[in-house]
Amino acid sequence: MRSTKKNIFYKTDEEVALMRHSNLLVSKAHATVVPYIRPGVKTIRLDQIAEEFIRDNDAVPGFKGYGGFPYTLCISVNEAVVHGMPSDYELKEGDIISIDCGVLANEFYGDSAYTYCVGEIAPETKKLLEVTKEALYLGIEQAVVGKRLEDISFAVQQHCERKHGYGVVRELVGHGVGRQLHEGPEVPNFGKRGRGVKLLDGLVLAIEPMINLGTRNVNKLSDGWTIITADKQPSAHFEHSVVVRKGKADILSTFEFTEAAIKNNKELTSIA
Ligand code: MG
Ligand code: MG
Repeated sequence: MRSTKKNIFYKTDEEVALMRHSNLLVSKAHATVVPYIRPGVKTIRLDQIAEEFIRDNDAVPGFKGYGGFPYTLCISVNEAVVHGMPSDYELKEGDIISIDCGVLANEFYGDSAYTYCVGEIAPETKKLLEVTKEALYLGIEQAVVGKRLEDISFAVQQHCERKHGYGVVRELVGHGVGRQLHEGPEVPNFGKRGRGVKLLDGLVLAIEPMINLGTRNVNKLSDGWTIITADKQPSAHFEHSVVVRKGKADILSTFEFTEAAIKNNKELTSIA
């Protein structure tokens, strides 16, 4: 979320260990929800399952009550980019559903998002999801000591916009994460190589490409939260929380559990 400039905090190894736990819970919350994603399920049901899992693990939903948001998950279907609200909407074959989950445990947040394919989806949409996920990892490759913030931004934009012609959302950005869900610096998905703050050891970033099949332009729905594409074409969102380290970023969240769960759910399609 783009807002006023926030402070940057560098984490100690002890704090990183706590954040690894919070992000493990986020990653497992995703995997816990996956068996229930299928045509006919109401998205509010997925929210209830995630909340129960998080509370059963001595943690609290990180988004619930944040800025007044009333749910555990942000659930954004098809043309919804991010910040979608769980509802009585029933998923149908061919939908894509971005689930963003935040957890607060031991005073630290975890934050990770994944976009799921309900049944068979259009090949061009599947490609959008795969490229967005690739862009996330290309961004993460830049999250190393000595690089600058917009090296991450540039890598994402280069892959999605210049190489594949997709729309890179400008209004929403990744962020630092820690004791606050949104800390500095902002992590845009567009930018110039070599610009922005120098990346130092212990900085934890939520890197989260939000990429549209068509126009980059977005609108907010009258619910006050849901961001949708201006042309109503699909949008993809993948997010990891990562620690900047020397040589290689340390990824605190993981898609390992959720992708294993996708493979076990024959109502879902896996992406590369
Ligand atoms: Mg998130
Ligand atoms: Mg985030």
